[in-house]
Amino acid sequence: MFRRDALEMRVLILAPVGRDAALLAQTIAQLDIDTATARDADVLLQMMANGFGAIIVADEAMTIAHLHQMTQWLSAQPPWSDPPFIILTPNGRPSDHTSHRAQEFSSLGNFTLIERPVRPETILSAVRAALRARMKQYEARSRQEALLHANADLEQFAYSASHDLKEPLRNISIFSELLLAEYGQSLDERGTRFLQVVRESSHRMDQLLGDLLGYAQAANIPDELPEPIPAAKPLEVALANLAVAIRETDARITIDALPIVRIREIHLAQLFQNLVGNAIKYCRDGVPPEVCVTAKLTSDRWVFSIADNGIGIDPQYTESIFGIFKRLHANGKYAGTGMGLAICQRIVERYRGRIWVESKPGNGSTFFFTIPS
Ligand code: ADP
Repeated sequence: MFRRDALEMRVLILAPVGRDAALLAQTIAQLDIDTATARDADVLLQMMANGFGAIIVADEAMTIAHLHQMTQWLSAQPPWSDPPFIILTPNGRPSDHTSHRAQEFSSLGNFTLIERPVRPETILSAVRAALRARMKQYEARSRQEALLHANADLEQFAYSASHDLKEPLRNISIFSELLLAEYGQSLDERGTRFLQVVRESSHRMDQLLGDLLGYAQAANIPDELPEPIPAAKPLEVALANLAVAIRETDARITIDALPIVRIREIHLAQLFQNLVGNAIKYCRDGVPPEVCVTAKLTSDRWVFSIADNGIGIDPQYTESIFGIFKRLHANGKYAGTGMGLAICQRIVERYRGRIWVESKPGNGSTFFFTIPS
C-alpha cells in the first residue's frame, strides 16, 4: 500500500514486554509494512537514524531522560521532518496518569496517544494515518530538494552568463576605442555619433554584467557566521570609495558610535557603499546631501540605519526597489543599474537579517538593515 524505500516506511516499535511487540508487529504486517523492534530507548534512537515511517512507543518504556534525549534529536531534524509517534498508555492506569504523560510527551510534537487495551483496528488506523503523514513529509522533502537544485542551477547560470559575456564585451570596448583613436579622423559626424553609442552601450553593459556577477556571488556567502569585526572599519572603506561623490555634492555625513558585528568586512563595506552612495546620489536639486549612519541593539541583532534628506521614495515602491534591475528613474538623471539594493538584500539575507526602507516622497529616506551581534 505504501510504496517507498522500506527503511523510510518501516514502523519502529519500542515495547519492553516482548509479547506486546510481537503482537504489534503481527498486526502491522497486514499493511505490508516492515517493522523493527527496539529493546530500549537507546536502540530506538539508533534505529531512527537509519529511517522510519512511524514510531510506536509503550509509555512505560520512555523515561523523562529518554524523552529529553528524543526531544534533542528531534530539534536537529530538517524542517520538512515531523516524525509521527504513537504512544500506548499502560494497562489499567487512571486517566489522570494519562493526561500527565500526555503533557510530558507534548515535546515530541506529532504524537497520538492510544489507551490500552488496544484493538487491532485502532492500531492499524493510527499507523495508516501516521504513514500517510510521513509520506507527505517525504514529498515536501523531494519538492524542497528539487527547488534547491533548480536554484543552484540558476545561480550557476547567472554567474557563468555574466562572467562569460564580459570577455566578448571587453573586445567590443577595446576595438571601439582603437577605431576612434586610429580612424576617428576619417569618420564624419554621423559615424562618430554611432561609434559613441557603441562605446557608451558597452560601458553600460559592463556595469550591468559586473553587478549581475556581484549578485550571483552574494549567493555563495557561507552559512557560518564569521568572527566579530568593528563596523566602523568597512564604513571607512566605503566612504573612501565614495570620496569623489561626497566632495562633488558637498555631502555631510554624520556617524554614530558603531558596534562590533558578525559579518565579513567586504560585505558590510558593500552595504554601506550602496546605501550611503544612494543617499548621496538621490539628493534634491540644490540641497547638499545630509546622511546619518547609526546602529541600535535589539535583542540579538543590530539595526543599522542610513538616513538621508533626499528625494524620498513613493510608498508604493518601497518593496519593489529591492528587485533586480528595478529603478524608479530613467537613465538620464541618475546613473545606476538598479542592482545595488538587490545585492544589499541578498547579502543581508545570507546573514539571516532583513533590509527595508521608510520614506516620505520629497522628504528623505531611511534604509534599515539588521545583522547578528
Ligand atoms: P540604482 O541606484 O543603481 O538605480 P539601486 O538598486 O541601488 O539601484 O536602487 C534602486 C532604486 O531605488 C533607485 O533607482 C532609486 O529609484 C531608488 N532609491 C534607492 N535609494 C534611494 C534613496 N536613498 N532615495 C531615493 N530613492 C532611492
